Amino acid sequence: MAIDYTRGLHEVGPDVWAWLLPDGEWGMSNAGLVRGVDQSFLVDTLFDLPLTTEMLDALAGLVEAAPIAGALNTHANGDHCFGNQLLGDDVKIHATRDTDHEIHHGTTPERLQMLVSSDFGPVTSEFLRSCFGAFDFEGIALRGADVTFDDELTVDVGGRAVELLRLGPAHTAGDAIAHVPDAKVVFAGDLLFIGGTPIMWAGSLENWMRACDRMAALDPDVVVPGHGPVTDVDGIAEMRRYLAHVTEGIADALAAGRPWREAADRMDLDRFASWPQAERIVVTTYHAYRQAVAGVPAEDGVHLFGEMAAWRQRHAGRR
Ligand SMILES: [Zn+2]
Repeated sequence: MAIDYTRGLHEVGPDVWAWLLPDGEWGMSNAGLVRGVDQSFLVDTLFDLPLTTEMLDALAGLVEAAPIAGALNTHANGDHCFGNQLLGDDVKIHATRDTDHEIHHGTTPERLQMLVSSDFGPVTSEFLRSCFGAFDFEGIALRGADVTFDDELTVDVGGRAVELLRLGPAHTAGDAIAHVPDAKVVFAGDLLFIGGTPIMWAGSLENWMRACDRMAALDPDVVVPGHGPVTDVDGIAEMRRYLAHVTEGIADALAAGRPWREAADRMDLDRFASWPQAERIVVTTYHAYRQAVAGVPAEDGVHLFGEMAAWRQRHAGRR
């Protein structure tokens, strides 16, 4: 089934919709809706209140007779949960325990606002603004989960089963997906980027590849990624190939005794070098190194964005 990659609502299965936000760049994330007989279930809110309001307004007709009663935050990055406060108090928000913890202790809207409005030097600041400058972080009050789970939880959505499966840690500590077996649809959150480069804030790469295998084993007809166009199992397989390629590159760099910055800088990304946001290899390499070897100093987010910006600049002519 070919689904157009245009902004807005797309039916991807019987009474299952994806909300798509091209071009899938930083913060431009997808969400979803599953509708049962008398209630509906939302997969993720969006990065700011205007984006989430636009989506909820577009869903209003669909959920009139089957109101949204539950939701999942696939993970704690703001582009998947900063709109939570716009869901009514009666909407039960679900998340893994790790995601709920990260919503309350991770990057806040105030910090993102500070990142785009402060001066970290021209290269870093220009990059941060290109990532986050288009969003409106005003008025966001963090809201976490009402229901947490560790491994899996099946929710009854007006007579339909929606399986919430924790497959992280990978992109973040608590990544979960929503699987709608009767429609053969998987909402992958940021365990899947399509038409862009994945970024690993937690890891491991091995567990992320296992997550890909588990998603593929569900044998879905339709897979909605956290960013990018709707895909199927081929999209999962392609991203798994990227992860396997990077795993190999990092193993080679470790064997050669390269520090992580050099490993990221010299990594031969092969055909994946042309993927948008190729500079995310910096963050993925950093976290892979932190897990593989002792003594890699901790870096804060500003430094990692600075490193990505510098990588991007150095490689601009080479791609
Ligand atoms: Zn995202």
